[in-house]
Amino acid sequence: MAVSGAPAYLRLVDPLSQDEIRSSFVNCSKGEAKGVTLPARVETILWADLEFLGWRDPKAPGRAYLVLWHDGTPVGLSLRATTPPKSRLRSSMCAFCTTVHGATDVAMFSARRAGAAGKAGNTLGTYLCRDLSCCLYVRRKLKSEVPQPNETLSVEDRIARLELNAHRFVADVLG
Ligand SMILES: [Zn+2]
Repeated sequence: MAVSGAPAYLRLVDPLSQDEIRSSFVNCSKGEAKGVTLPARVETILWADLEFLGWRDPKAPGRAYLVLWHDGTPVGLSLRATTPPKSRLRSSMCAFCTTVHGATDVAMFSARRAGAAGKAGNTLGTYLCRDLSCCLYVRRKLKSEVPQPNETLSVEDRIARLELNAHRFVADVLG
């Protein structure tokens, strides 16, 4: 897989303030964005280890958020998370970081598309790490509980692949 040639602009991750995060959302109303529960302490986030900031809403279990720099602008997505029924999946792979998980450690995340398509009810879904900790999985700072396929990619290449996958999803949501 040729992923090491990811454009350099994708790698720009500058720390974001709470206000920047709140005003970055592209696929929900201003009212919804105001109601987003932000990660507890934005100033303690280790941005150098993140291609994107992803978190589950501690006050609303079915909601999750993903914020990243996309084409030089902070872009935030509001997501709905649903856990697939255990009987359907024995294990599944995250579409961003390709970590293989047991069925309960992946979730289906769906994003309303930005703009008119979203207002018409158009959504886009993908299976991702349940806790959206892809950035830590690619760095092996977190480990899945199930065996992983053999892979010879370096950490840098895994990071580049994660970035490509995440930015593709964001680009699709933006339409
Ligand atoms: Zn992942």
